[in-house]
Amino acid sequence: MSLPQLQRAPLVLAAPSGAGKTTIARALVEREEGFSFSVSATTRAPREGEEDGRDYWFVSHARFREMIRKGELAEWAQVHGHLYGTPLQSLVRASEGGRHVVLDIDVQGARQIQEAVPQALLLFIFPPSVEVLLRRLTGRGTEGEEAVRRRLSTALQELVAAESFNFFVKNDSLEQAIREVRDLALTGRPPPEGTSGCVEEVRVLRDGIRSILERETLLEGPPGAR
Ligand code: ADP
Ligand code: 5GP
Repeated sequence: MSLPQLQRAPLVLAAPSGAGKTTIARALVEREEGFSFSVSATTRAPREGEEDGRDYWFVSHARFREMIRKGELAEWAQVHGHLYGTPLQSLVRASEGGRHVVLDIDVQGARQIQEAVPQALLLFIFPPSVEVLLRRLTGRGTEGEEAVRRRLSTALQELVAAESFNFFVKNDSLEQAIREVRDLALTGRPPPEGTSGCVEEVRVLRDGIRSILERETLLEGPPGAR
């Protein structure tokens, strides 16, 4: 897959579901000049409030297959039973005027971008603890036990894949996380304290999720944890 020449390295944000990746990506693009969002194509139906061309390009399966066949996608993957992909056209459009392109995609897509654009900044966002992740995943109160279990299993796979990422940002305080992501994009360098501690924190999260998934009932926990 050959990608269009971009003036600046694209910023690829990946994270376990519920870590806050979309919140951070949107805040960055809305508040900071010089950042633009790459609008993905997807076969999933729009959620309430989502707009075609702003949140996603909502397309049929047939159209998505055609995009793959014609080489119109920089990367694509199946996530939670739906197809998602980054149109080359979205990358070109978002990068106009030398802006930083922000991609909010899953880890499979992040790997494909890494192969196609070695200078891409791959940034993995993770939650401060398993309890917080569970709370963010169940926050809307609309997800049943099985849906949360599925999302946690995906989160576990994503945390395993995190090892190949360049940069890590903990999303505890949202404001601080947004600042860190912005600074990384602008400098292309990790913070002076490095990211080795983050790799260990990601391991602890993985172990925590594994033990929650072994429980018969997920939505329980020590008092005060939720
Ligand atoms: P993702 O895109 O990684 O699945 P979202 O951005 O949708 O996650 O965030 C999941 C939920 O967590 C949302 O309700 C969001 O408002 C909330 N959230 C995100 N970041 C924070 C934060 N730092 N502190 C508290 N809540 C947060
Ligand atoms: P949602 O349906 O909740 O908006 O997104 C589900 C998952 O698909 C998220 O992890 C999101 O980052 C990922 N995703 C969104 N767009 C793309 C894309 O273009 N490519 C890939 N590989 N994943 C995407």
